[in-house]
Amino acid sequence: MARTQLEAARNGETTAAMKRVAERENCDPEFVREQVATGQAVIPNNHAHGALDPMIIGREFSTKVNANIGNSEESSDLDGELEKLHTAVHYGADTVMDLSTGGNLDEIRTAIIEHSPVPIGTVPIYEAVKHVDDPAEITHELLLDVIEKQAEQGVDYMTIHAGVLMEHLPLTDGRTTGIVSRGGSILAQWIEENGMQNPLYAKFGEICEIFAEHDVTFSLGDGLRPGSIADAGDEAQFAELDTLGELTATAQDHGVQVMVEGPGHVPMDEIQRNVERQQEVCEGAPFYVLGPLVTDIAPGYDHITSAIGATEAARAGAAMLCYVTPKEHLGLPEEEDVRDGLAAYRIAAHAADVANGREGARDWDDAISEARYEFDWRRQFELALDPERARSYHDQTLPGDNYKEARFCSMCGVEFCSMRIDQDARDGDGEMDDLDGATDLSESPAAEANLPPVGDHDTSGVPGVDHDTDSEPSEADD
Ligand code: SF4
Repeated sequence: MARTQLEAARNGETTAAMKRVAERENCDPEFVREQVATGQAVIPNNHAHGALDPMIIGREFSTKVNANIGNSEESSDLDGELEKLHTAVHYGADTVMDLSTGGNLDEIRTAIIEHSPVPIGTVPIYEAVKHVDDPAEITHELLLDVIEKQAEQGVDYMTIHAGVLMEHLPLTDGRTTGIVSRGGSILAQWIEENGMQNPLYAKFGEICEIFAEHDVTFSLGDGLRPGSIADAGDEAQFAELDTLGELTATAQDHGVQVMVEGPGHVPMDEIQRNVERQQEVCEGAPFYVLGPLVTDIAPGYDHITSAIGATEAARAGAAMLCYVTPKEHLGLPEEEDVRDGLAAYRIAAHAADVANGREGARDWDDAISEARYEFDWRRQFELALDPERARSYHDQTLPGDNYKEARFCSMCGVEFCSMRIDQDARDGDGEMDDLDGATDLSESPAAEANLPPVGDHDTSGVPGVDHDTDSEPSEADD
């Protein structure tokens, strides 16, 4: 019997998860099965994750966005983490990684999995480090125990930095920013102090067997990713990528689903080449990129520097984008940072889907543009990526209900509203009659993959803050 979605797909079986994914992406379940069978797409779906609504990651499907949550030693509590999960799902995260390193890790992880409708990813080496005084004391057995326990708890995908090899480490010597991946730096220290090969590489076959039993998907980590523009595309980065290509094939031979993580910091003109190289080396396995940041100069705005790179990466074929918040390089993100990071990345993913001609993706743009030209402010807010923000920005200057039909806003003012002037000018020859808000999103072939806008995602099973997207401003606001 098939243990994983990959094994089932190879056996010609269309699973319930594949059918659900096809419904969400508005495509043929047989197409989903073929994509999974060839390793071009993954459906992270641990057998023990009962609350999951299955989704798919692959370049032939809508671009997905991951949000990282998690605490640190300095800030850790269960309710706070569930609230972050709620916020991430509410603002449109397709998957969530729990990167907690403080507090009761098991309690937090199991609660997150129990309540999450989206796949949950982890980086097990973070937990292994918590069990020892010095990272060099981590044993092969400890690593396998942590991985197996997390697999049993229902983690859908795990970042495994098995491509950081002993022979790659000297290649990082001349770097401007050294090794910036947390997992990569821990493993480099372990290798240096023990004089042995990376334990995740040495035990890769055993990890594959654990993953196959629970259907955990590999997210092969890029522990040697560049942490600055100066280090982008160096020998260390591509030596690791070659190893990740070999490990992709090994994992798939074990029947395990695989996606591959990518950089980091990359100048704009090198992003396409990076994506193409990963696709070639890893034979089309989904590419899951962190940003990349296209410049290093803007701490405080790295959701923007990285969303620019993420758009370019998705345009070139990256399947999932790991969000970056404005707090990147500076501190642990708060709720408002999660919101800003997710908005930036939903925009990047959607912009790439539109540019790549993803079926139905542009319907959303057309519908909001029609509402905008018709001065249908309520509809415009409803369709906005972040309805709460759009409404509140409008209402800061024109809060009254009467302004919801106004043929202007405070940006140009009543006298200079170009759309009003344009419409008045056209009224004479009757051409305005052609504009009738014709795009019906409920009929859009983009289905659930792109629609509805952020804010309408189902968070009913996730405890936490109450984001009321439908509320109109109170009378006191007027
Ligand atoms: S006032 Fe300017 S910004 Fe506002 S609706 Fe008119 S054209 Fe658009």
